[in-house]
Amino acid sequence: MIEAAGRFAPSPSGPLHIGSLLAATASYLDARSRGGRWRLRIDDLDSYRIVAGAEDSILEALENHELNWDGPVIRQSERLDHYQHALDALADMGQVFYCSCSRRDLRGTPIYPGCCRSQTKPVADAAIRLHVGEAEVAFTDLIAGKQSDRLAHSCGDFVIRRRDGLMAYQLATAVDDGDPTITHVVRGGDLLDNTARQIHLMSLLGLSVPVYAHVRTLLSEDGKKLSKQTHARALDNATAAANLVETLVFLGLTPPHDAARWSPSEVLEWAIGHFEVDTVPSGTVIYRRGPVF
Ligand SMILES: [Zn+2]
Repeated sequence: MIEAAGRFAPSPSGPLHIGSLLAATASYLDARSRGGRWRLRIDDLDSYRIVAGAEDSILEALENHELNWDGPVIRQSERLDHYQHALDALADMGQVFYCSCSRRDLRGTPIYPGCCRSQTKPVADAAIRLHVGEAEVAFTDLIAGKQSDRLAHSCGDFVIRRRDGLMAYQLATAVDDGDPTITHVVRGGDLLDNTARQIHLMSLLGLSVPVYAHVRTLLSEDGKKLSKQTHARALDNATAAANLVETLVFLGLTPPHDAARWSPSEVLEWAIGHFEVDTVPSGTVIYRRGPVF
């Protein structure tokens, strides 16, 4: 039997904030409460979004919160051959085509209309899309429940290699999360929409599909997703235990009233003993700054 393993996969586009810590903590607790391993992967493919120093700051924040990962840090930028291999395999299956549409051509069409589907031979200056056909993906999310997605109606033929030559997020993530050593993917609820595309890719590539669980998305008071782009405040490592306690409350737990004064490892130890993924709330919630106690 394969040992359980989860992963946390931040992109180095800024420091961790409370929303990313929530995903990290949830994934860590899920893995540890199963007696499994917890891996750290840096999703650094999109060189345009990388911020100098962000990876170091993420590692430092995780260390300060005593969210200790197993094994070496994995970087997507060091795994390009795996993604190329997957892309070649999809091309061999006749599942891909070359899309010359500009962003402007596709403006106002959220679902790709299929105009380049006949371009099955390589052309210069084109994105590569996956022909989704009538694919329908059903899965049960441990937190969000039963999901079903007919890709042609939700996203259409999606990009797996960008026009600028970068491997697309969907393909790289499917290859990495489809590794048989990853059994559970616990991540932010904003990624639930992406899951069917990734499962579809994993199925085509003969990879192992992990179990998914999507935690709540934290919103700022104006209703936008808390993110680096909406200037979410960087975590203060000096209040690591209190930060962890905040995330536990969003995971539906009720830590003891003095837990914010414990060490981070004591908070995590308590939480491992109390975490139950099927009682974690789903959906979105407004994050109001300030201590919860
Ligand atoms: Zn096109």
